[in-house]
Amino acid sequence: MKKNLLGNTGLMVTEVGFGVLTVGNTQLNLPIPEGAALIRYALERGINFLDTAQYYQTYPYIREALKGTDFDPVIVSKCLYGGYKDMEEAIEEARREMDRDVVEVFLLHEVRSEKDWELRAGAWECLQDAKSKGIIKAVGISTHHVDVTRLAAGIPSIDVVFPLINFKGLGIRDGEGPGTREDMAKAIKDAADAGKGVFAMKVFGGGILLKDYRQAVEYVKNLPGISSLMIGFGHTDEVDRIIEMMEGTLSHDYVPDMSNKRIFIDQGDCEGCGACLRRCPNHAIYMNETGQANVNYDICLTCGYCAPVCPVRAIIML
Ligand code: SF4
Ligand code: SF4
Repeated sequence: MKKNLLGNTGLMVTEVGFGVLTVGNTQLNLPIPEGAALIRYALERGINFLDTAQYYQTYPYIREALKGTDFDPVIVSKCLYGGYKDMEEAIEEARREMDRDVVEVFLLHEVRSEKDWELRAGAWECLQDAKSKGIIKAVGISTHHVDVTRLAAGIPSIDVVFPLINFKGLGIRDGEGPGTREDMAKAIKDAADAGKGVFAMKVFGGGILLKDYRQAVEYVKNLPGISSLMIGFGHTDEVDRIIEMMEGTLSHDYVPDMSNKRIFIDQGDCEGCGACLRRCPNHAIYMNETGQANVNYDICLTCGYCAPVCPVRAIIML
């Protein structure tokens, strides 16, 4: 698979990466050997870019996938917390749990505003120190926000930006309200022009845009400044299809099989606003004891109507 330079980091990454959140306990919850086999399959097919996070609890899958192999992928991890010590522990946990001396890229996970960026100054300082020690090669942020992507473009110490973008603009935020794909595309280009390595999340809008597979991939792939598309795979077929898509050999009438897809609500992202509950025509969503949304699979029809109304893109289809 074609590789691109990730901004000024010196890292070469394949034009598609594997977001391994899918295999973990908040999504498909695959047994470790099964999830590891899927990651290894992607590596064998040439993908060299893996995205994980402290919160995903997927380090054991990556460790198992790499065990006894010569694969040396570029691994991204991230931490939600803002303090120096929090980040220090997160970096050590990642190195220990994945059995890696170096984690190539480490990010502040899901920066939501300029204020949020400022509040995480301690974690950022820790990332700088880790980079100077050589245990991380590049540092940056992930975000759903246009305003934060724009901010990142102007901050010299940020090497890498991991923004959300898709052709319908699903889940893009700008300040307190929704953002547009055009504004995010402009912010991405500005970040890339400033030397940041930029790779995209939620290309399929959390699975909702899978039915428009070709359009979804082409839109993000052709955006100026994007080095890689980070995609969550649940099966080896999905790895094969994206490779064919990138190589231009995918059948023109390919439509992903959605029959086994299910709606998931990411409990780490859900803010309990209730918008999905109000939108669901089948009353298949309820709030749990901690005030977060859950799906009743006995009555959910996988129509997908709930996903676009979620302001934080906590609802995905897998
Ligand atoms: S997919 Fe449809 S039925 Fe299922 S929870 Fe969402 S809106 Fe309700
Ligand atoms: S719309 Fe999103 S944030 Fe709001 S309750 Fe539903 S899942 Fe949670």
